[in-house]
Amino acid sequence: MTKISEHFTLEELIASATAKAKGLKNEPNAVQTVHLCCLVFDILEPFRLVWGDAIDVTSGFRGFEKIQKLDNSSRTSVHPEGFAVDVRPRNMSRIKEFKQKFRDWLHEEQKAYDQYIDETRNGSEWVHIGHFTVSGKQRRQDLITTDGVNYRLLPRWEKKTV
Ligand SMILES: [Zn+2]
Repeated sequence: MTKISEHFTLEELIASATAKAKGLKNEPNAVQTVHLCCLVFDILEPFRLVWGDAIDVTSGFRGFEKIQKLDNSSRTSVHPEGFAVDVRPRNMSRIKEFKQKFRDWLHEEQKAYDQYIDETRNGSEWVHIGHFTVSGKQRRQDLITTDGVNYRLLPRWEKKTV
């Protein structure tokens, strides 16, 4: 096991059931590995510490998509570059809280990121974090999708006044 940070390993960031099922290699090169590490250092590990409970990576690096075009959405995925990760709390009864808290944290900490996406599909829920676009941009967009095809912007984030 290759630990990237206290709570995340390289293996969990590159594990892919799809690649495994199709017998495809899913090994990041040096640059893609650096991308994954930056995502962990900048976003995942710091948020994990705030969240205080286990976070599961459901999908990280998907290099095989580049060759196979397995992603049937027309959007440009940054998973093949090591720029994105899909995560959810191990305790899925807290998924709504997780989604809200992750978004709040990105804004409150003024984190640099490209896209936060609140995803729901076929009864599954997760948060997609895109760190950079392929060309290195960080747009700080917050989106929501329930089908992976149609994405809409979330209402502008506002600090809660409690
Ligand atoms: Zn994703």
